Amino acid sequence: MTTRRWKGYGLTDVGRVRRSNQDAFLVANDLGLFIVADGMGGHAGGDVASRLAIETFQQVLASTDTAAPPLAPADRAESFLRSTITMANARILDEGQRTPELRNMGTTLVAVRIDESDAAGAHVAHVGDSRAYLYRERTLRQLTQDHSVVEDFVRQGLLTREEAAIHPRRNALTRAVGIDPAIEPDYTFAPLQPGDLLLLCTDGLTKMIDDQDLVRFLEQSFQSPDALCRLLVDECNRRGGADNITVVVCTQGPQS
Ligand code: CA
Repeated sequence: MTTRRWKGYGLTDVGRVRRSNQDAFLVANDLGLFIVADGMGGHAGGDVASRLAIETFQQVLASTDTAAPPLAPADRAESFLRSTITMANARILDEGQRTPELRNMGTTLVAVRIDESDAAGAHVAHVGDSRAYLYRERTLRQLTQDHSVVEDFVRQGLLTREEAAIHPRRNALTRAVGIDPAIEPDYTFAPLQPGDLLLLCTDGLTKMIDDQDLVRFLEQSFQSPDALCRLLVDECNRRGGADNITVVVCTQGPQS
């Protein structure tokens, strides 16, 4: 097995207002798999849901010979992501139905599998408002479209981005993992080039730092993923840290 060149670094922080951290993330460099999840739902529910979603991925991977499918062929990445999210959905629903205090828990999820074969690229699947961005040559492109009420309003021309950012329903999601028996993740594929940077994050980051500011921080700390994660989390907290903050940054290391 060849050494993977793409490496991720992740950081999560409770923020300055919430008492618990209901976000979770996974950085599996050996598999090229990176996940961010943002749990929701009352007392203990949120952190259970995001953890169960990540655990489901870990269990699927552990039960699979990683040198073989489902991860090896690029064309299987989409079905791997979709089927694992569907499994996580069923598991969170099931757990919520068995345990009254976990009822109605759910989680967002954005999962990226980086393929390093000839057609190198990022397979991205998501549900909810956790995001994946591609930063290339000083330009930031959002790879995911939030499954949220305000995002729908923006697309229908009913709100501007600026109005959406302060709208009272800005936290309301239209899709989440673990809420409904039917789940439909969005999937996209983004070809990658040397020098690209992928950023995954929860809304605790994007609601504190807009895209314009994000570009500024990326320019500043592009060379050092761990310093960049630290910088972004610190900046969110400096601005009030209204929510849990989670960020995963993936870059291609030097070619050896
Ligand atoms: Ca959040």
